[in-house]
Amino acid sequence: MKSRGRIIINTGNGKGKTTAALGTAFRTLGHGGKVCVIQFLKGQGQYGERVMAEKIDNLDWFICGKGFVFKKENIDSDRDVAREGFQLALEKVKSDQYDLVILDEITYLPLYDFLDVTKIIELLEGKPDRLSIILTGRDADPQLIEVADTVTVMEPLKHAYDTGIKAQKGIEF
Ligand code: ATP
Ligand code: MG
Repeated sequence: MKSRGRIIINTGNGKGKTTAALGTAFRTLGHGGKVCVIQFLKGQGQYGERVMAEKIDNLDWFICGKGFVFKKENIDSDRDVAREGFQLALEKVKSDQYDLVILDEITYLPLYDFLDVTKIIELLEGKPDRLSIILTGRDADPQLIEVADTVTVMEPLKHAYDTGIKAQKGIEF
């Protein structure tokens, strides 16, 4: 019997939300599963994980962000890009092609009023039974936490940034 997929949330202010999700992708891939990653609200930076993703069969990777959401003059286009990204997420979830879908930084969509949280709940409740979904990002909405099976809050005790150390290649990107 195939096991039921999980709904997992990695939230909180500490480091490790995205990288823990990618560690789970590694596991799924190792068992021959298929993985889809959709990154919301992120720019086109040279992230090591994206470079690596291109070399991995069974891993599909989509970037749905134009950069900094805080630039107010871009708010409409950021909203449009985020909504397009969400439509892609719906399509990929419904396709039943995957064992794991990672929706990276999706918690910011309801936080910035780009999307009603009920849309994300509908996506989670309508997922194929075998599919696991991981949502990442700070300040996960209580309604998302309610429907999830596993929720982890990353708590920062220290971060190298606090001492003025810059983002490090291979560690932060
Ligand atoms: P990672 O991608 O390293 O797993 P994350 O997904 O938990 O981190 P994000 O909020 O997505 O964290 O932030 C991404 C970037 O911010 C990463 O470079 C990460 O190292 C850095 N970061 C995460 N937490 C903190 C923190 N508490 N203080 C400063 N920088 C942080
Ligand atoms: Mg992250």
